Amino acid sequence: MKEFIKWLLAIVIMLLLCAGFMYLFTYTRLRPGSSSAPSPTNPDGAELPRATGLAQCTAAPFVMPTAGWVGILYGDSILGTVNHSGLDIFGLEGNGVTAVYAAFDGYVTRLPEWTSAVIIRHPQDPLAPGRQIWTYYTHMGDSSGQSYVIDQIPPGTVELPVKQGTLLGYQGDYNGQSWRPIDTHLHFSIVLDDGKGRFLNETDIANTIDPSPYLGMRLSTSCADRPPLCRPDFACGPIASR
Ligand SMILES: [Zn+2]
Repeated sequence: MKEFIKWLLAIVIMLLLCAGFMYLFTYTRLRPGSSSAPSPTNPDGAELPRATGLAQCTAAPFVMPTAGWVGILYGDSILGTVNHSGLDIFGLEGNGVTAVYAAFDGYVTRLPEWTSAVIIRHPQDPLAPGRQIWTYYTHMGDSSGQSYVIDQIPPGTVELPVKQGTLLGYQGDYNGQSWRPIDTHLHFSIVLDDGKGRFLNETDIANTIDPSPYLGMRLSTSCADRPPLCRPDFACGPIASR
């Protein structure tokens, strides 16, 4: 019996250590005030505390889809292995407050099972005409499952036309079935089409596009500005490419 309790304790401690490590590794470094955190700014480069929702860099086709601190960039490592397929923008205002907007004109779809996400189809990639792309927005809900997507985009919505800057919902901390708590933010990614009019699985970075040229900022982990700034030379050079 004693032996059993010893083993049980050892397992519980191991699990707690693992959970603690994963939590700290993923999010603590991104919180404001943490020493390694990039300082927040707005997309036009002024030393403002936050990126500004709807702000648009010169010559960039997309608007910034929400306000906040662009804490996790394209290609950043999550849990040491998974490369992040988009941008995580932390509003720092708590759940259900910070608005999320369509980055570009298109047609919004929300699958029946989506609590916190919507996806917008853009028939013409503004930077590569002739191909279709998608923009994906998620974490618009809270951990109890309450959705912050606006009522006009209920689950099951298919191909509702939206303009650039249309309100989609509000940032939250909904994370699906995962036990891992997350801070309130928007996850935003640009997703490739399968060539038959369907979006690919955006959790795989290979199915997504570097958002840098679409927002006019260096947002790829290989040569990112931290904090991001509007700049005409947003492209990463060959040395920095992954
Ligand atoms: Zn994310």
